[in-house]
Amino acid sequence: MGSSSPDRKAFHEFVERHRSFLLTSHINPDGDSLGSEVAMALWLRSRGKEVRVLNDSPAPAAFSFVVRHFPVEVFEPELAERLFDGADALIVLDVSNRQRIGRLAPLLDRHLMPIAVVDHHVSHARGFGQVNVIEPEASATGEIVYDLIRESGTELDPARAEALYVALMTDTGSFRFSNTDSHAHRMAADLLTYGLEPQRIHALVHSHASAARWRFFGEVLSALELVEDGRIVVLEASPEQFQRHGLVGADTEGLVDLPRSIAGIEAVALFSEVEPGKIKVSMRSTGRIAVDQIAARLGGGGHPPAAGVSLRSTRAQARERVLAELHLLVAGLAPAAEPPR
Ligand code: 5GP
Ligand code: MN
Repeated sequence: MGSSSPDRKAFHEFVERHRSFLLTSHINPDGDSLGSEVAMALWLRSRGKEVRVLNDSPAPAAFSFVVRHFPVEVFEPELAERLFDGADALIVLDVSNRQRIGRLAPLLDRHLMPIAVVDHHVSHARGFGQVNVIEPEASATGEIVYDLIRESGTELDPARAEALYVALMTDTGSFRFSNTDSHAHRMAADLLTYGLEPQRIHALVHSHASAARWRFFGEVLSALELVEDGRIVVLEASPEQFQRHGLVGADTEGLVDLPRSIAGIEAVALFSEVEPGKIKVSMRSTGRIAVDQIAARLGGGGHPPAAGVSLRSTRAQARERVLAELHLLVAGLAPAAEPPR
């Protein structure tokens, strides 16, 4: 898709048509959602629009340097009502499944406002907005926001460039995931011309771990299991472990990615039971199977190499359901080039 896409054109008309905007993203916002929101908010404000940003959940400490450029507010019932009343239109970033905007979702039914969705997740439903700019080939939502800003003829500035760099850097796993293409690198190169320091930004995002988090990772990884003839890695974290280390669900960030480097594996599945009976499943593929199919079948979503879903069940039941699905996908594969160890 390019500047001629009818959906992008519709988005620019959407922006022209309205004066005040509310921006939001998915629950547990990440670097891409926050970077996209901040860059979009700064751009809209520079065009004389009124803008507020409201998310279901707070920004992790790792991104406080991003949200200092533009306030990102956190859901509270009265605040949400007020912001929905005060806005002409809603822009939803980095999510095209309305349940994933969390506690803001019920307000969409009561406040019948025009909605534009800008996202890069593959969605079965084609977005819930009047305007849907959904481009699964984009490595990050920030990449689409970057294109939209440039198409409008507006110049970037250091704050917007930094926010977009964070979006791109985090969603490409620091330019190493399979979604890292020439457009992503060209965009990064252009953003660096605004004086950004990649080493500094990387350190700001990735220097927020606690010692407790690494002890927890160590514990979970030392109980790592290999199933399906060494082709699937299974990790489990219990409520007792989260509690004992004083951690929350968001602290598992990065854990599921670590065993991807084990030779011969096709996928990793992490079952995090943060609270008893509430299982967050995170899946990663090394490239041959599409784990978003499994996540979508169970009510979640994501991308072919990285997907997730939340299940209400016991950990054993969640594990059984997911591993049965993984078994079907792995069974259909030709033998791996490298023998499992
Ligand atoms: P993670 O495993 O790091 O939480 O998420 C990996 C990918 O799957 C992300 O792109 C994320 O948006 C998506 N994802 C994770 N959990 C869910 C979920 O419960 N529902 C949906 N629709 N997508 C999810
Ligand atoms: Mn994203």
